[in-house]
Amino acid sequence: MAAKERKWKCWKCSEELVKQQVLFTYLGHTFSHDLPTCPKCGRVFIPKELADGAIAEVEEQLEDK
Ligand SMILES: [Zn+2]
Repeated sequence: MAAKERKWKCWKCSEELVKQQVLFTYLGHTFSHDLPTCPKCGRVFIPKELADGAIAEVEEQLEDK
């Protein structure tokens, strides 16, 4: 297994993305996560697996009432 982290680039600016802690809100819950962000245009890229994982976590919490 290759442990190398995959490099992402902004398709708009071709800038290499840097990881930044980003706050986002889903269903009234606030999450902070290190996400790849374009240093030029500020666009945040949310990998699909992270979005799915965050949503699954929230749903579990809601069911656990
Ligand atoms: Zn960009």
